Amino acid sequence: MNVLILGSGQLARMMALSGAPLGIEVRAVDVSNHKVVNPIDKKVMDIHLETAIEAADAISVEFEHIPEPLLEQVNRSGKLMPSVEAIAAGADRVKEKALLDKLDIANCPYMIVDDATKLPQAVEQLGERLIIKASRDGYDGYGQWRLSSKEQLPDIQQALAELDLKKVPLVVEKMLSFEREVSLVGARAKNGQVALYPLVENLHHQGQLHTCVAPAPAITPALAAQAEQVFTALVNELNYVGVLAVEFFQMGDTLLVNEIAPRVHNSGHWSMQGADICQFENHLRAICELPLGSTQVIAPSVMLNVIGCDLPPKDMLSVPRTHLHGYMKTPRAKRKMGHINITGNDYAELGEAMQKLQKWLPKSYFPTLNGEAERLL
Ligand code: ATP
Ligand code: MG
Ligand code: MG
Repeated sequence: MNVLILGSGQLARMMALSGAPLGIEVRAVDVSNHKVVNPIDKKVMDIHLETAIEAADAISVEFEHIPEPLLEQVNRSGKLMPSVEAIAAGADRVKEKALLDKLDIANCPYMIVDDATKLPQAVEQLGERLIIKASRDGYDGYGQWRLSSKEQLPDIQQALAELDLKKVPLVVEKMLSFEREVSLVGARAKNGQVALYPLVENLHHQGQLHTCVAPAPAITPALAAQAEQVFTALVNELNYVGVLAVEFFQMGDTLLVNEIAPRVHNSGHWSMQGADICQFENHLRAICELPLGSTQVIAPSVMLNVIGCDLPPKDMLSVPRTHLHGYMKTPRAKRKMGHINITGNDYAELGEAMQKLQKWLPKSYFPTLNGEAERLL
């Protein structure tokens, strides 16, 4: 079988790596130049985009922000999964909010702003602690501005002056004091079958996912049921095929949706070691109409992103049950370079392993790493 992925980063690479044993060949499209590449080594392949589209049994995305003409071109093949509408709901926060509201899914209080002079109105409505998000093209915390008091309004209005808010409005959200962030990753097959991984707990640093603990500790059956309901409502509405991720804020006994991602997700990387069948294989299975695989947890896991620096030296592998997944990229500030998966018999073992790993990780990691390790111990 042959799968084409729009986007040629680490998610396409991990899909290709997990498809290989099944004989699924994954090709990727570099969306900046429309070249077809092998996502494992990024080498340009001797095949044109049109031919790759024609040869593919299924086409999918590793990223929601795909330039529209390319998405339209691929969509005409009839092989795109999930649908253009599902991808758009993940790519455009205005559409995303409309979808959540239509389905009565609890989400963060917000206001859509298409003119920076209307920001004081948002302050009136939502309070002065705000997070202002560009409705398109944001990820890893890019395209966001935080307001912590009214006095900062003029500075923020100035920073927004160069944006065309009529074309790309802002979604202004109330800054929530949540207890923690959790997410749900799951797959839906064409026949409606659903396979869900457990809720995981996510720690962010400067707007970027840093550490993920799977399964999330202390999830009540009621919370798990809420998350499942949200997932089911979304995939049924979108007639979704493939892996979908839903990010939540936990406020007491309630989950509020932060955002959705119509693709495999960083908070599902732990499943490569921690679950029976990982999210990458399950995404390929879903879009290739193969039976979905078990999402059962094999072992409690921690996933640590390696961000903005070289991968740690290989002798870090001496820490038991530690796996390194490098993405073969050159370091740049905030760039995800790879991730470390750790499995253990219990959370305490994960905490111990995290402490041992410090020796090989940059000092900037210590606050999150230490805090999380101590909590798990
Ligand atoms: P991703 O890389 O996950 O796509 P993104 O750039 O789309 O990220 P969000 O997920 O919207 O951004 O926000 C990034 C992080 O900022 C969240 O995970 C959370 O930690 C924080 N955040 C976002 N919205 C709010 C909010 N309304 N209140 C408090 N914190 C928030
Ligand atoms: Mg996002
Ligand atoms: Mg997010």
